[in-house]
Amino acid sequence: MDCIFCKIADKKVDAKFVYEDKEIMAFKDIHPIAPVHVLIVPKKHIVSINDLTDNDALLVGKMIIKAKDIAKELKIDEGGYKLLFRTGKHGGQEVDHIHLHLIGGAALHEEIRPLDVDWK
Ligand code: AMP
Ligand code: ZN
Repeated sequence: MDCIFCKIADKKVDAKFVYEDKEIMAFKDIHPIAPVHVLIVPKKHIVSINDLTDNDALLVGKMIIKAKDIAKELKIDEGGYKLLFRTGKHGGQEVDHIHLHLIGGAALHEEIRPLDVDWK
């Protein structure tokens, strides 16, 4: 399977890891949009939020708790940050292997709006 995040999990592609265990890895986004931009990624290939089952509840919970721990380690916990799961085409998902963005280190823009001005 030609999945960049599976290749990172298998150590076939390098990444700047900030955390790794048996189930989860976290590495710096290659194109950061803020001073802190880390991706928290399960090693198991799950395409998106749409593909989660009840059996994944613990795994997804661990991803969020790990994002919180990394935010503290990187000292952005008090200033605050955003956690983002993009899902599918409208969500702007580009890598079809589920990942949680941890974005912070600066005050972030609020704007999330439809591309199409006539959406209503
Ligand atoms: P999304 O649009 O939510 O699917 O986000 C995919 C993210 O993965 C983007 O922010 C990319 O910059 C990032 N990305 C893609 N390839 C790599 C890579 N090899 N190492 C680190 N981050 C990557
Ligand atoms: Zn994958």
